[in-house]
Amino acid sequence: MSRPRLRRALRGALAALVPVALLGGLSGPAQAAPVAAWPEPVPVVSHVETGDPVVFITIDDGWYHDPAAAKLLLDRRVPASLFLLPGAYSYDSGYFHTLLNQGRSRVENHTVNHPDLTSLDAAGQKAEVCGARDQHLAQFGDGPRLLRPPYGAYDATTRTAARACGAKAVVTWTYDLTTWGQWTPPTPRLKAGDIILLHFNETLEQDLKRALDLADAAGLKPAPLREYVPE
Ligand SMILES: [Zn+2]
Repeated sequence: MSRPRLRRALRGALAALVPVALLGGLSGPAQAAPVAAWPEPVPVVSHVETGDPVVFITIDDGWYHDPAAAKLLLDRRVPASLFLLPGAYSYDSGYFHTLLNQGRSRVENHTVNHPDLTSLDAAGQKAEVCGARDQHLAQFGDGPRLLRPPYGAYDATTRTAARACGAKAVVTWTYDLTTWGQWTPPTPRLKAGDIILLHFNETLEQDLKRALDLADAAGLKPAPLREYVPE
């Protein structure tokens, strides 16, 4: 392992360990310290620079559990990033266990309560991001490595809180292809490295089909976003 690689690996290990250690015995005013102790903010990613012919499918929230959408994800072996809210699997975690266990999707961080993070102080942001990380870990045995801030709203504190809670990037998107009510989004010309935003809503199956068709037409294949974001 080269020296920079080793350093990165160590940093990753520390990022995973330290918040747990801090959770161990501290309470009260000492909780304010950890955020200040993590000065290195994670990068913000809305498009991945890559020469590979790939696009990234990301699906947010998780409220509506459509079996047809799940079937499409599984049949097409789509490696989707699922930015789930804990509340959206609390009443039916089986839907997502199936997607994670039988498919190539991974669960990522979208906070606990879907706030505008920029309205919260450092402790509040950390509670939202680390709280979701902890609930995902408990439910799925997999810790999220990417944070999508609700509404795409973030500030410098968000990037530091993400690091403290085990994420390696704040992820927004290149194109939102979600159908909202009567509104259908315009058709983009997809390029390699684009990040597509969808939602677990009533139109997910058709929105996902549309995204996959657009990717096909551009000669691009869905790839796992987590693996394309450097440590
Ligand atoms: Zn959301």
